[in-house]
Amino acid sequence: MSADSKKKQNEAHKFGIETRAIHAGARPDAVTGARNTPIYQTSSYVFDDAEHAADLFNLQTFGFIYSRLTNPTVSVLEERMASLEGGRAAVCAASGHAAQFLTFFTLLGPEDEFIASRNLYGGSITQFGLSFKKLGWTCHFVDPDNPENFRKAITSKTKAIFIEILANPGGIIVDVEPVAAIAKEAGIPLIVDNTMATPYLCQPIAWGADIVLHSTTKFLSGHGTSLGGALIESGKFDWAQNDKFPSMTKPEPAYHGLTFYETFGDFGFSTKARAVALRDFGPCLSPANAFYTITGIESLPVRMERHIANARAIAEFLDSHSAVSWVSYAGLKSSSYYELAQKYLPRGPGSVFTFGVKGGYDSGVKVVEGVELFSHLANIGDTRSLIIHPASTTHRQLSEEQQAKAGAGPDVIRLSIGLESIDDLIYDLDQALSLV
Ligand SMILES: *Cc1c(COP(=O)(O)O)cnc(C)c1O
Repeated sequence: MSADSKKKQNEAHKFGIETRAIHAGARPDAVTGARNTPIYQTSSYVFDDAEHAADLFNLQTFGFIYSRLTNPTVSVLEERMASLEGGRAAVCAASGHAAQFLTFFTLLGPEDEFIASRNLYGGSITQFGLSFKKLGWTCHFVDPDNPENFRKAITSKTKAIFIEILANPGGIIVDVEPVAAIAKEAGIPLIVDNTMATPYLCQPIAWGADIVLHSTTKFLSGHGTSLGGALIESGKFDWAQNDKFPSMTKPEPAYHGLTFYETFGDFGFSTKARAVALRDFGPCLSPANAFYTITGIESLPVRMERHIANARAIAEFLDSHSAVSWVSYAGLKSSSYYELAQKYLPRGPGSVFTFGVKGGYDSGVKVVEGVELFSHLANIGDTRSLIIHPASTTHRQLSEEQQAKAGAGPDVIRLSIGLESIDDLIYDLDQALSLV
């Protein structure tokens, strides 16, 4: 076979997600042959000459200037994230929250609004509802169970809809397709936080998402070692269809009059997020954390299979336990999200879910203090099994009403099921529940 026809054949072949989790974006180092992606622990890069430097600063050529903007290790992770999500391009950030900030800073101006599902990670509710307000951005929270609620909240100032496809902490699944249709009709992007599902379980762009966000801190990195975040753009959103997005379609004064959509087309949004928001606010991902995240992603598919198998077994165990009043896991037939789980997350609805312990707040505290193998901490998506009582920790800043609405009432316990022996996890929960 000639080199040319071999190349054509490779282009036609679609590589599977297990292969892309290991290879996408990476290649052996051209100089040393190093097979793994090195940690390029450098803040800056030597220019070839003055013209090369000028081209880089004008965004007329791809290359590296300074690691706040781009870094070769981080670039590998960005390319891998874009590949796994079926997107056009990605930008990494220091954390999931930083990726959220970069996204909204690129979309919104003062007085602008967006609509978000009310069932979100507690930190996102605080970021959107309180901190963003200080920047003049208003977030309207709606109940995502009825997609029409998003349509009803749209005003002339609305610039985006934001959801978590699989919501933290309640195991709630949003019916993405009709929400995407509502966003499309309104000429605004649908942003989906895919942290809890990961691209192994769900790829929101295939269901109509325009921007996908991640806290890579969780399942993607996978070992509880490294903070990180990413935004991925689909490349399909038409920013010029209306006059809602001047930051994409009008000359940018913070970038010598460059018009990002016109110049960069289907990767204009991520380029703008990097060239202005990341440049001017600075929450870049460190190369070391990018390295740990790349390494973690290589085993994502096999880890997710075990996370799900363990989560299913524990959900069934709790469902029949006398100290447990309810279990909210979309993998159980009794869940009102079971059908949506079959549609959007056919491999399984993740390994983070909640259950209610009889006796309310005090019992919740007893259980989290009674476990020995589970770690009592504020994280999800670790190899280790984790437990938390949201009402006394992550959702503490919220009012009782907000707690209840976010699925974090006084009796709620959240689990993130890890990769340990299933018998040991059940043994540990059983002995902790015997204390209430
Ligand atoms: C953790 C988390 C975030 C925030 O990410 P950080 O990396 O902690 O900043 C956002 N969304 C979801 C669903 C999360 O679980």
